[in-house]
Amino acid sequence: METFEQHYLSLQQTLKEYMPDMDMTVIDQAVEYAREKHKDQKRKDGSPYIIHPLAVAEIVVEMGLDTDAILGALLHDCIEDTDASYDDIAKKFGPVTAELVEGVTKLTRANFSSSEEQQMENLRKMFMAMSKDIRVVLIKIADRLHNMRTMQYQSPTKQISKCRETMDIYAPLAHRLGMQKMKWELEDSSLRYLDPAGYNDIMAYQKAHKEQDEAFMRSIQEKITNRLEEMGIHNKTYGRIKHVYSIYRKMNAQDKSLEELYDIYAFRVVVDTIPDCYNVLGHIHDLFNLVPGRFKDYISTPKPNMYQSLHTTVIGSQGIPFEVQIRTWEMHETAEYGIAAHWKYKQGSGTGNEKDFEWVRRLLESQQDTDAEDYVNSLKIDMFDDEVFVFTPKGKIVSLPAGSTPIDFAYAIHSGVGNSLTGAKVNARIVNIDATLQNGDIVEIITSKSAKGPSRDWLNICKSNQARTKIKQWFKKEKREENILHGKTSFEAEMKRLLLPLPGSMDGELEQNLLKKLAFDSWDDMYAAIGYGGMTATKAVGRIRDDVNRAVKAQNVDKSNQNPLRTPEPAPVKNRHAVNGVIVEDIDSCMIKFSKCCTPVPGDAIIGFITKGFGVSIHRADCPNTIGAHDPSQAARWVRVRWDNVAEQPFETTLELDCITRDGLLLDLATVMTTARARVREISGKDLPDGHSIFTVRFEVKNVAELEGIRNKLLNVRDVLGSRRGQN
Ligand code: MN
Repeated sequence: METFEQHYLSLQQTLKEYMPDMDMTVIDQAVEYAREKHKDQKRKDGSPYIIHPLAVAEIVVEMGLDTDAILGALLHDCIEDTDASYDDIAKKFGPVTAELVEGVTKLTRANFSSSEEQQMENLRKMFMAMSKDIRVVLIKIADRLHNMRTMQYQSPTKQISKCRETMDIYAPLAHRLGMQKMKWELEDSSLRYLDPAGYNDIMAYQKAHKEQDEAFMRSIQEKITNRLEEMGIHNKTYGRIKHVYSIYRKMNAQDKSLEELYDIYAFRVVVDTIPDCYNVLGHIHDLFNLVPGRFKDYISTPKPNMYQSLHTTVIGSQGIPFEVQIRTWEMHETAEYGIAAHWKYKQGSGTGNEKDFEWVRRLLESQQDTDAEDYVNSLKIDMFDDEVFVFTPKGKIVSLPAGSTPIDFAYAIHSGVGNSLTGAKVNARIVNIDATLQNGDIVEIITSKSAKGPSRDWLNICKSNQARTKIKQWFKKEKREENILHGKTSFEAEMKRLLLPLPGSMDGELEQNLLKKLAFDSWDDMYAAIGYGGMTATKAVGRIRDDVNRAVKAQNVDKSNQNPLRTPEPAPVKNRHAVNGVIVEDIDSCMIKFSKCCTPVPGDAIIGFITKGFGVSIHRADCPNTIGAHDPSQAARWVRVRWDNVAEQPFETTLELDCITRDGLLLDLATVMTTARARVREISGKDLPDGHSIFTVRFEVKNVAELEGIRNKLLNVRDVLGSRRGQN
């Protein structure tokens, strides 16, 4: 049985090795505190519980994390499993440590197992989103690693579920964070329980071939080191068999037996400088025969998780192919520990949170082959701000827009659930149905057969389009009478506002024509549509007002013809009505479109041009295409226009950016747009022959102030040189 003393000694030694200047007092305090808190608890194998946090802390030290993280690891189960509180830990060990412990606790409480493949990416995202601080993720990975190392004491059911979770969540996260060593161990130890036969086959085969393999690797290693020493290149060279799970995967993917599988040896040459890397590559290709098409230069083009190395595959004299990876010590460190290596380089330089973020951002950039949306979503922890991940009571994960409420949740489950919602519980506590859901919440909807259905207020409370659509559908179906009443009221109000006659008071034939134009069979049908929100009253009136006006005018002319003494009434419409947020002076109602060349938005000085057949086209006053306004023959077609101040709808606009061509620029721009919460319609780039590129960003804004804010953010992106409104 393992003892406290063994593990404590081991932690001390590791600390001495990795952090020789470490002040042990605070570590000892945390060890004592945790030991006292866990004193009545035992591990499954009967050993004292404290050895678990000690072992986790030791892994965290090996990762190279800082003191806060080590304290966090020592205390990581205190809030969950003992009577220790956040405040208690904050008082004794500082708020940063307390935050870390609380973060780990949240992850421990959440259930990350799911059998559905499409839930995996959501689970990983939620894991990151809930963590907030990347050190929480790292402590949790260390926690899982130690649990995997002691998995033999768990029940078979628990083994399978924990190992699945490790394969689905922890190993991919370790990979994305660039921590190869952790990833391999997590994968191999999971495989051992998930497919014991497959795992044991490989292990037995390797055991049987151990001598043969070692002799082979020794001969290659000697050949390489001899040559490099001859050339005076300082190096550390060693061979290894690829890890069990990667062999297992190869066997299954290529449908080959162990005997048929080659390419299981990998050699690593670690040198001091980058020029040495390329020198070594030359010598390797001189010593062995190159396998064409297998050379990869991840030094000049690092992998998205910051991995750097030269890879080549060659064939030795025995005819066995093997891979050689060549890298510097620093690259080696990054390859083994990924993001955690950052704390090693940073030591002594204080904590620069901003720089941490940049590092996290780059590290989390997922592979090139995932689609762009996914890529942007996985950039960094606060990129998940626009999404919230919550659970059903059965542990199914549901992703909703940030700010969502139990109403959104209910409709995401099923419209039947939403329509019979009477209340909600979050984490077993009754909440208001407009409560804002947080990551990791367990949400339970209280329903009743006698529920009266959604209320119209819900349309303003819910955040998801899904909920809104389903609520509208309900009103459309269930509440025709009520909808007609609502719709009629708002339609008539709009007609009255514009001094137009109401349906029922107009000529019968005219009304039939109007209904035809509106594409409804009866006024009630149209009222119902307005009532449930399928159409707005403004839109309906906008569609028929010209016809009604014309008819009213014709009638007036008729009347004045019949009675010449009667003074004609003044034209009823005085209020120029905004169309698409623009008021055209002197023209009452006409089609409005915004020119593509300069894409004006509210706040810009604008001018209108009467096109042939397409209404008035709006340009910015400084658009080069408005030069024609000074041409006398065209002058009549230019009209004065102004923005309608009340308009709040979004306007599409375009920015062109002059940039220096580089990899990842598109994604950096996309990131800025996402963090600025801009509604992007399109981002595209084209490379120019001179090493420059032009990116076109099409997006929606409310006004010129918002546009300028976004423009400034884009101009702050590295390698963006300038910007232009509109599109040439
Ligand atoms: Mn633990």
